[in-house]
Amino acid sequence: MGKVAFLTVFILCTFGNTISQEINSPAHHLKDGTFTNTTGISNNKSLKEIYNWMIDKSREKPNALDFNLVSPNFDLINQAVKGKTITWIGHASFLYQNQELNILMDPHLTERASPLSFAGPKRYTPPGMKLGQLPKIDIVTISHNHYDHLDIKTVQRIAKDNPGAVFLVPLGLKQWFLNQSITNVIELDWWEKYVLKGTTVTFTPVQHWSSRTLLDRNKSLWGGWHFKNSYHSLVHLGDTGYTNDFKEINEKLGSVDLALIPIGAYEPRWFMKFSHMNPTEAVQAFIDLGAKKAIGMHWGSFILTDEPVDEPPRLLKEVMINKFLKEDLFVTLKHGETIALTN
Ligand code: ZN
Ligand code: ZN
Repeated sequence: MGKVAFLTVFILCTFGNTISQEINSPAHHLKDGTFTNTTGISNNKSLKEIYNWMIDKSREKPNALDFNLVSPNFDLINQAVKGKTITWIGHASFLYQNQELNILMDPHLTERASPLSFAGPKRYTPPGMKLGQLPKIDIVTISHNHYDHLDIKTVQRIAKDNPGAVFLVPLGLKQWFLNQSITNVIELDWWEKYVLKGTTVTFTPVQHWSSRTLLDRNKSLWGGWHFKNSYHSLVHLGDTGYTNDFKEINEKLGSVDLALIPIGAYEPRWFMKFSHMNPTEAVQAFIDLGAKKAIGMHWGSFILTDEPVDEPPRLLKEVMINKFLKEDLFVTLKHGETIALTN
């Protein structure tokens, strides 16, 4: 049962196709109501290919490792006059404070990234913050609907504890939230903006797909979230393969002070390259974005793919050195680690 359920999660995430677009609608809006990438190409791995990968006996399955969990800096997070901070909760989940707002990105603070409570990718490093430890939240952003980025229990609890929090979600995902009785939800298309207390939030394209069930493939959009106020800017790239979208984000919205870039879930390349970057591509994304600094995410929390779980940060360091870039410009954090942002 476990294998079947695990396979189901992957199947849900890996179908895709390309269908001609509707005249006069944006190029990524397809005629059948689904979405595609800026290239017009959707992920098209077949069920057979995925199944063969899943059951491949020669496949090296990575072992879980104990990563250090550190306590977030609650003095900094809860101070009366807010500073600028970032806390890595794990995987793609971050708490970002920009003096005016407490923003949660892709919050996942429970055990599994799966539609089933008993099977599917299980967390092997606990979340760096517990649900009860979160400060008052103003904005929650969701990059797309895959289970490792959108966790039903987490968003339900956040909505209950923070009735004033607005959930910013990709186009096509609002109804899912309404079905969970979460009503303070705004869905955005690529390049659409939402402004709150001086911070402009823009939804940006990245290269990926969406799916939570067998029937909703690419029916909701995916993307990155860009935040900018008068003294700080940040982009969270969600889940993405390498794409020209990063250069376009830089051209349209300007370079950012901090980029949160996925660096894990990249092996095997024949399967994952379309939808996940490896550290080499992640460093190129950092350069394309013109970011002053970057933090690597989407590693060390769930076993989703075949690379060793501690490989992404090691390779990231190597790539930075090989490209003669200062290592401290693109770092990884410990689960739960808070850093004060000095721009
Ligand atoms: Zn995904
Ligand atoms: Zn993911």
